[in-house]
Amino acid sequence: MLPDICPCCSGQPYQQCCAPLHAGAPADSPKALMRSRFAAHAIKDLEYIVRSWASAARADIDREALAQWLSAAEFGQLMVRQAQGDTVEFECWYQQDGLLHHLHDLSHFVQEDGHWRYARSEPPKLKATVVGRNDRCPCGSGKKHKQCCLGAMAAAS
Ligand SMILES: [Zn+2]
Ligand SMILES: [Zn+2]
Repeated sequence: MLPDICPCCSGQPYQQCCAPLHAGAPADSPKALMRSRFAAHAIKDLEYIVRSWASAARADIDREALAQWLSAAEFGQLMVRQAQGDTVEFECWYQQDGLLHHLHDLSHFVQEDGHWRYARSEPPKLKATVVGRNDRCPCGSGKKHKQCCLGAMAAAS
């Protein structure tokens, strides 16, 4: 099921935000591409994730491992910290195996054939915590965990 509000956390309707990019329109900046890749993780659009990778890195993608991770993880909040040149620094949260994972990443992007694509990340900082359903979500949204990064997508569908 496709969401009404874009899962990239822009607050915009999905159809006016990341949907055109998922359908093949070029992103106008590394930040837009990064957001659309996060949204693709949330809606488990494996093809888009693979397609938006830089061609040099694409051959190394373990599609099966990626598909497995996508089906096991529920993606919550995304916060873009800084977009500068061809890099984007962001934090995101996803739920997997009863743990809330926090990922802080600096990603590099390249332009190929008029499309921004994801090239690589600095070694990301990853940390996992146990959070109760009714606890305040550690992503800083102020909402209860069950109403936020705890599988918001799964609950809505
Ligand atoms: Zn979006
Ligand atoms: Zn949250």
